[in-house]
Amino acid sequence: MKKTIRDVDVTGKRVLVRVDYNVPINNELKIVDDTRITATLPTINYLVEHGAKIILCSHLGRPNGVVDSKLSLRPVLARLSKLLDKSISFAEDIMDKSTQELVKNMQNGDILMLENIRFYKQEEANNEAFAKKLASLADIFVLDAFATAHRKHASTYGVAKLIPAVCGFLVEQELLMFDKVLNNPEHPFVAILGGAKIADKLPVIDNLLNKVDTILIGGGMAYTFIKAIGGNVGMSIIDNTKLKLASDILDKAKEKGVKIILPIDNVCAKEFSEDAETKKFSSGFIADNYQGMDIGPKTIKCFKKVIKKARTIVWNGPLGVYEYEKFKRGTNKIAKYVAKNKGVSIIGGGDSIAAIQSIGVSKRVSHISTGGGASLMLLQGKKLPCIDLIEDV
Ligand code: AMP
Repeated sequence: MKKTIRDVDVTGKRVLVRVDYNVPINNELKIVDDTRITATLPTINYLVEHGAKIILCSHLGRPNGVVDSKLSLRPVLARLSKLLDKSISFAEDIMDKSTQELVKNMQNGDILMLENIRFYKQEEANNEAFAKKLASLADIFVLDAFATAHRKHASTYGVAKLIPAVCGFLVEQELLMFDKVLNNPEHPFVAILGGAKIADKLPVIDNLLNKVDTILIGGGMAYTFIKAIGGNVGMSIIDNTKLKLASDILDKAKEKGVKIILPIDNVCAKEFSEDAETKKFSSGFIADNYQGMDIGPKTIKCFKKVIKKARTIVWNGPLGVYEYEKFKRGTNKIAKYVAKNKGVSIIGGGDSIAAIQSIGVSKRVSHISTGGGASLMLLQGKKLPCIDLIEDV
């Protein structure tokens, strides 16, 4: 296990905490969903209670190294301040001397928030001088931004190389859950994979073949597999460059005794649109002028049976174009069955999370991962570079 804030003495220390406050904000600069803020409260409360001087650092949106007032972290500061019932000071420009003054004047338990770190182009470039500047503000670095733990940026990777680094509680929880399912799962272990980008998911399947009993595949990625085994997929989304890899993975699964279940039937449409007319086709027999948009009722029934028996579930990616009313049934039904399951379930990826939240059952899932890209990397069996820099206990 990696070192956490429990393993270091934080009292009186300047502690730079990389959080992920990349929250959705509307045109009136109101925060639409503060899950990412509330998720960091255990770490912040612990540091306050232990008398640390807390310097919070985050990005928001994609300002690409340019100051953009619409992407200021000020609304986040206001919300956090309300949640903690505590005043928080704000550093407009971390490159300015005034920020060092603010840090110098901090008392134990004080909180200072830095402005959007991506207002500096040096952040995403992992510029060394910039990382040094950040590191000079603190004695200890705390990584609590799981969603950016796979990126080598100055405020995640660069700074962790320069000062003692530990995990915050959010990152600790994420690592514990992924470790549990990937290294010590109860069986049957079922993976559910969907979404459109098969290139991201093939390495996940490859790694999971050593761990799971069954893989349920839906969403756009299923059609590359169906085409690879000679089925007609009509105009469905496919990645022609991955046909061979997909068919190799199906062979490998057979060798390893892992069941890969592809959709049996599909809800299809002539156009990729919200109000397209729909028609159901069996897999492998989609008419040339139709495309698969969702898994069909027979597939839902089949997936339900497998999910019901599972003791461990990992789910990443929607099973259809769930953004459209007509094609969200598959994803929503699967979300319901996963939530009903009494075993350990982990959901990652913004779309699957949105689905489970939209039907109001997210509390019944063991763990909702805050990091899409980071969780995919762990499922691929890779190490997260920023976490790799943190010492083991
Ligand atoms: P990903 O980022 O790879 O997890 O893909 C998520 C996206 O996949 C969502 O925006 C879905 O609308 C899309 N998707 C799911 N099923 C299909 C499908 N059958 N055809 C096209 N796109 C799909």
